[in-house]
Amino acid sequence: SVRVRFAPSPTGPLHIGGVRTALYNYLFAKKMGGTMILRIEDTDQTRFVEGAEEYIQEALAWVGINIDEGVQQGGAFGPYKQSERKEIYGKYAQQLVDSGKAYYAFDTSEELDELRKTLEEAKVDNISYNAVTRMQMKNSLTLSADEVAAKLQNGEPHVIRLKVPLKEEIRFKDIVRDWVVVHSSTIDDKILMKSDGMPTYHLANIVDDHLMEITHVIRGEEWLPSAPLHVLLYKAFGWTPPEFAHLPLLLKPEGNGKLSKRDGVLGDFPVFPLEWKDKTTGDISRGFREDGYYADAVVNFLAFLGWNPGTEQEIMTLDELIAAFDINNIHKGGARFDVNKAKWYNQMYLRQKDDALLAGELNTTLNDSSLSEKIVKLMKERVTFTKEMIAEVPFLFNEISEYDQEIAQKKWDDMAKTAMPVVAKILEGVADFNSIAIHDALFAGLEAEGIKPGKIMQALRLAITGEGKGPDLMLTIEILGKEKSVARINRALK
Ligand code: GLU
Repeated sequence: SVRVRFAPSPTGPLHIGGVRTALYNYLFAKKMGGTMILRIEDTDQTRFVEGAEEYIQEALAWVGINIDEGVQQGGAFGPYKQSERKEIYGKYAQQLVDSGKAYYAFDTSEELDELRKTLEEAKVDNISYNAVTRMQMKNSLTLSADEVAAKLQNGEPHVIRLKVPLKEEIRFKDIVRDWVVVHSSTIDDKILMKSDGMPTYHLANIVDDHLMEITHVIRGEEWLPSAPLHVLLYKAFGWTPPEFAHLPLLLKPEGNGKLSKRDGVLGDFPVFPLEWKDKTTGDISRGFREDGYYADAVVNFLAFLGWNPGTEQEIMTLDELIAAFDINNIHKGGARFDVNKAKWYNQMYLRQKDDALLAGELNTTLNDSSLSEKIVKLMKERVTFTKEMIAEVPFLFNEISEYDQEIAQKKWDDMAKTAMPVVAKILEGVADFNSIAIHDALFAGLEAEGIKPGKIMQALRLAITGEGKGPDLMLTIEILGKEKSVARINRALK
């Protein structure tokens, strides 16, 4: 059965592209009745960032990706954190050394610099530690068995490198990119175990994917260059590689290049699921959650960055996405990260939310449940984010400080000035002060005085809100209440 993993390194906040990778793994796993695994790849201690792992967990939980096996959930293939699996990697690296597929290298960093310099001077294109250059270096392929044993005995610093074959065509089929063919001469003898005894990403990743019985590796395109090396590693171990699917890049909103983490720092739009504060620089990176996006809208938006169901349908719940998801239909080309599309999704999801739920959200600020309900009715169809329901109607909470001058000049004419005292009087007379009663009374009362209601409505709005346009005026008057509405008309007349 299908087993997939999301394998982030806790080196900072999880980029939104990472969330998309996790989501595609999840959609595929659930579609296939498979298992979703979260593995924390934290072997590079120099890049460890405090709080990053918790951030990853929180972000996945926020978007609704349920992990079947992982650090928190446990499982039969644990531990799920690489720093807790150190002995395993050493054992497998040793296995490759013993079978002649890898070797010890004792070169100091000065010697490696020297190699690089010599190659540069000789104008060699492919400057690397490989099948050609390794023969000039200090490693277990050039030293005698006794010398190697002595060095190991003395505890001399060393790494373990993969013995990459000189002439071999590496080919594998990627689900998204189809056949990928790379010649082994372009790959250097990658370090598998570092001198500090920690594995590199490549070794740990392959060993874990094998031991955790991962069937499909679904990850970002930035890992495609590593895939041939991974295929070589599987071969060296004599293991069958999983299937690969490398997801298209996320491009900047304008399509000019890759979306980067920097785009999120103090930028106009979020590129992280949750807000993140960098402890050393103090930089704040915006989060979708804190910006007021709904998680289900973000999920829908992300799912469509690199895939779509091939129908006209754009609004899809997580369950619908799972049912429709097809790993064979992932796009090859980069996906433009269009923030306006994200906003559009949020607006669509907001409109589908229960009024009571929205009112509950407003009520955390307003502390007046009947007012909250009324504002939802007034503003639901007009906003992208819930918080705008309050932000866009300041006249409901504060006295008007300024009238729209353009509208005042055009609409606050003699007819309006004659009509307003009548309006005030009509409003005084409305017993049950609700929008329908207000509407009926106003229209009947004004007609009776020979005033066309349509002609003075904008003037009335100006008096009530100070603005030229806005939400339903009758409902606005109801929410404001009789006393305040009349007072505003009288004030405008002065
Ligand atoms: N730890 C890698 C990352 O941070 C995992 C890449 C992979 O999925 O193989 O993205």
